[in-house]
Amino acid sequence: MIWKMVAVNFLIAVLSTACASEPTRSGHFPIVDAHGHIGASFNVTKIVEDMDKNGVSKQVVMARAYPGKDDSDLPGYDLLALKLAETYPGRFYPLVGMQRPLLTGAHKWTTPDADVEALIRQTESKLVSRKFFGIGEFIVRHWAYSPGIHAEQDNPIYSELMRRFSVLAAKYDVPMVIHMEGYPTLVADFSKLITENPGTRYVWAHNCGRSKAAVIRSLLSRFPNLFCDLGGMTNVTTGYGSGWPRKEEFTSLIERSGVLFPEMKSLYEEFPDRFMVGTDVAHAPAMRFYEGRVRRFRELLEQLSPETRAKIAEQNAIRIFKLAR
Ligand SMILES: [Zn+2]
Repeated sequence: MIWKMVAVNFLIAVLSTACASEPTRSGHFPIVDAHGHIGASFNVTKIVEDMDKNGVSKQVVMARAYPGKDDSDLPGYDLLALKLAETYPGRFYPLVGMQRPLLTGAHKWTTPDADVEALIRQTESKLVSRKFFGIGEFIVRHWAYSPGIHAEQDNPIYSELMRRFSVLAAKYDVPMVIHMEGYPTLVADFSKLITENPGTRYVWAHNCGRSKAAVIRSLLSRFPNLFCDLGGMTNVTTGYGSGWPRKEEFTSLIERSGVLFPEMKSLYEEFPDRFMVGTDVAHAPAMRFYEGRVRRFRELLEQLSPETRAKIAEQNAIRIFKLAR
């Protein structure tokens, strides 16, 4: 009897050691959300709860200074993002926000006026503080999904404004996050900007402007300083990942019903160091989509090799934005 008990205890000890040394359970790998936003109406406690519940350790956060549709979706500002970072150390990493009414209109990009010059100076002073980890999201080409003058945007990527910020980003060693639907002419113009700024890290949001795999492959092969975030590319709710609000001949989704398209899966395996995930909740009412988007990213990442998954889920964002480990 005693011998039997010893044997059982031994077995239990062996089993617990085996469990303790197992790698993280599949589906529960850590995630860094590399494309987040903040506005004054966001419920901060809920953001942190949703991150905790879904294994999101950190979030890159960009203030959305465009107005929302009403008082339930008030705009944000950089100090709000900074306060979030200071309230929850190690969880939030603010960028100097560029979704600003001030940058509405192509003329502001080609010929910066006094207000834009002031913005460039203020951005530099924020970067000097080392409390900001990047600049963006720059709204270059954006399809309208709400009424208002900031809704549809068509700004030049190869412009004085982007050249100035590219130099600033390189000087302070931070990336720029860019929203630009992948029109072929814009891809050509962006290529010129990247060529002239080899020391600047560019993060082209939404799977490189929802471009097709062949276009992304060609760009990533040519430019080692180009990266893509998959912000909002989960096909679970109304969002970029569902082809909303528009699709064009040059756009592509990345998945259907939780299954990565084969050409996208190959692309991610081929360039495992260049992609990051992001929930892209830009408006307070859309906070309810956060959990579903993270869960879908987990499903998609499960389809990749363990090495590629760890990089895209977590490691690339830490490296590209130089986040604290
Ligand atoms: Zn965007």
